Amino acid sequence: MSTVKFYRPEHQVPLEMHKVRIVQKLYLRDVDERLRLINEAGNNTFLLQNKDIYMDMLTDSGVNAMSDNQQAAMFQADDSYAGSETCNRLRRAIQDVLGLNDFLPAHQGRACENILAEAFCKKGDVVPMNFHFTTTKAHITRLGAKVVELVAAKGLQADSIDPFKGDFDIPRLKQFIAENKGRISFLRIETGTNLIGGQPISMANMLEVAKICRENGIISVMDASLLQDNLYFIKTREEAYKNKDTKEIMHELCAAMDITYFSARKLGFARGGCICSNNQDLLLRMKEFVPLYEGFLTYGGMEVRSMEAIAVGLYETLDMEYISQGPLFIEHLVRELDEYGVPVVKPAGGLGAHLNASAFFPDMPHSQYPAGALAVAMYIAGGIRGMERGTISEQREPDGTERYAELELLRLAVPRRVFTLSQIEYVADRVKWVWDNRQLIKGLRFVEEPKVLRFFFGRLAPVDDWQEKLVAKFKADFGDSL
Ligand SMILES: *Cc1c(COP(=O)(O)O)cnc(C)c1O
Repeated sequence: MSTVKFYRPEHQVPLEMHKVRIVQKLYLRDVDERLRLINEAGNNTFLLQNKDIYMDMLTDSGVNAMSDNQQAAMFQADDSYAGSETCNRLRRAIQDVLGLNDFLPAHQGRACENILAEAFCKKGDVVPMNFHFTTTKAHITRLGAKVVELVAAKGLQADSIDPFKGDFDIPRLKQFIAENKGRISFLRIETGTNLIGGQPISMANMLEVAKICRENGIISVMDASLLQDNLYFIKTREEAYKNKDTKEIMHELCAAMDITYFSARKLGFARGGCICSNNQDLLLRMKEFVPLYEGFLTYGGMEVRSMEAIAVGLYETLDMEYISQGPLFIEHLVRELDEYGVPVVKPAGGLGAHLNASAFFPDMPHSQYPAGALAVAMYIAGGIRGMERGTISEQREPDGTERYAELELLRLAVPRRVFTLSQIEYVADRVKWVWDNRQLIKGLRFVEEPKVLRFFFGRLAPVDDWQEKLVAKFKADFGDSL
């Protein structure tokens, strides 16, 4: 994206500084088909087929567009098991872009987390972090250690417009460290909090947290999976960094941490994972798990062509014209929705826009899954697939009672460099239509509920015939068509 000013200020929009050279055909099923298809999919957007989706806004993982340079680099992949030149090229890119000497490869972000947990967590340990991510928490708790979230209060307030809602609560962190001496496996900083709306964390906060870790002999670990969006927010929202270039910021940040890991399904516009550090002792403690769980140290379960794509993609994460695209599209979408009065999490973060389903349906009981109902309504209204981030994504208590989510959100992810602005406009249009017709929408109930990961595989049904009424209203407004 550029800072190009439009002559007609009322038409100012984010302007792409890239063009699309490979395209994928999309299909928009008509509204009757959408009703049938979502019910065949058990009213669960995870069970829809891609051929039936117009806007796939489920996730930003592994679905970001590659550049011509990334694709070109993939041709030179060196498959040799030992001494692979591809591995050397990726190491050099990590040295140059992150300023870190060495790395361990893993097949994706959660595989890095598995290795970190195996190397450092034991039963009875605690792992403080600003906010958990699903896979991170699963690996840590699997080993009997406990995740403790220390995000500042603003992070959980849907109506707070603080620019850095991912910040740690520093006084709480200090108190926590004093109370848990000797039990802390490591501290994890998630740069760009996934589960609380892609909200960034400030450079000042991260550097202070890293300093506190050093003073207390605690290993600091940065999860940099969403760092490219966070870098953009540091540069545009944090005064002290306005005039620093992205590489300087990246180096300063990585140098402050003991370990930096990332999912290359997000950072680097590719697929894979890396654990990077200047500290050979720490790398040595993790090294043995790479051949055990992932593969040899030259590839760690990654496809070599993907490694070439990461090496080039890392450089692209320093390019403001690329990394601003996601945040600016999301900001554009959030601003339009906000102007219509649609309840959406603000300020706009990275990753995607998050609709506040509780505010769409203030009278719908939690037990009828407001965020799930909104996800279904968006598919019926526009072939748009979002991800439920509410009670369906939680797991029942051991006694079978529901654990209601703190926030009932529908996430509309914006994969990087993938959509055009007219497609984003279409999403805003259909969200507004759903908002204007929200009184027609009722809840869902489970008809098939797996004990674990029910949000992936569970099947639901509408509580009454609200979906037919919604379709009838759609036809009245748009005609019989799409
Ligand atoms: C996606 C993600 C992960 C996990 O990465 P995968 O490659 O999907 O395993 C870890 N941390 C954060 C912050 C993420 O967004």
